Amino acid sequence: DQAQPRKPAWIRVKAPTSPGYRATAALMREHRLTTVCEEAGCPNIGECWAQGHATMMIMGEICTRGCTFCNVATGRPDALDPFEPGRVADAVARLGLSHVVVTSVDRDDLPDGGAEHFAMTIRAIRRRSPGTTIEVLVPDFLRCGPEALETVVAARPDVFNHNLETVPGLYPEVRPGARYFHSLRLLQRAKELDPALFTKSGIMVGLGEDRQAVLQVMDDMRSADVDFLTIGQYLQPTPKHHRVDRFVTPEEFAAYEAAARGKGFLMVSASPLTRSSYHAGEDFARLRAA
Ligand code: SF4
Ligand code: SF4
Repeated sequence: DQAQPRKPAWIRVKAPTSPGYRATAALMREHRLTTVCEEAGCPNIGECWAQGHATMMIMGEICTRGCTFCNVATGRPDALDPFEPGRVADAVARLGLSHVVVTSVDRDDLPDGGAEHFAMTIRAIRRRSPGTTIEVLVPDFLRCGPEALETVVAARPDVFNHNLETVPGLYPEVRPGARYFHSLRLLQRAKELDPALFTKSGIMVGLGEDRQAVLQVMDDMRSADVDFLTIGQYLQPTPKHHRVDRFVTPEEFAAYEAAARGKGFLMVSASPLTRSSYHAGEDFARLRAA
């Protein structure tokens, strides 16, 4: 194996110690909720949790896929917990969130991929916290009929997010089990079903892609009417995962951001520590106020 490139100074992670962080952690335990913040070992957890911003991961901690960048365990998931939507809604209300991001593992074992569970969660949050904007970061529903996507969209989330994760040429090694054009079409179809919905997608860089391919992904997303884009540096969760090919510099991220704005995305976040849900609430509130 080739050695990993050294982490540069711009990937700095502060140890999470604030009282706000501890309060968020306690609430997640109390409600027995899983967060992608912890599962993914997200470098922003200290900052986000200090403000009570956590991304809930529903439908268990075990995924039916095995993406090579992802730290979530692969295997046979547990049965769905019918009380989970209520617990998520309760946690959102207690945290007083103005915006919440809800994501999940992939559930290829379920006929609807978990679409109805997502819809129930959206509705439960809406009932308890009508002022909270809801962003769902959904799986690709690759093995489901069109009803799965329709079910999620019909529950009226404010933001429909599905990450393309990487350039199409790297799918076989980074996202085996997924199909680039299927994911792109999912985003396009969500917008067709509800044009009032904001659609969002993101990729990681530093996996071995080249700049031209990244610009092409942006064009593909715009042709599918994707509104928001996130681009962040890939970090290897453990030595078993896909290696970091390189650390993209802050200047290159700034150039990606400028290119994306030029292509017409309504909202762009591109920086080394950008994650799909990083500052999602602030960015969305700013957009709605504009
Ligand atoms: Fe959680 Fe997203 Fe913040 Fe990371 S960026 S800590 S995943 S809310
Ligand atoms: Fe991780 Fe999502 Fe891939 Fe499952 S589908 S392995 S949760 S990135």
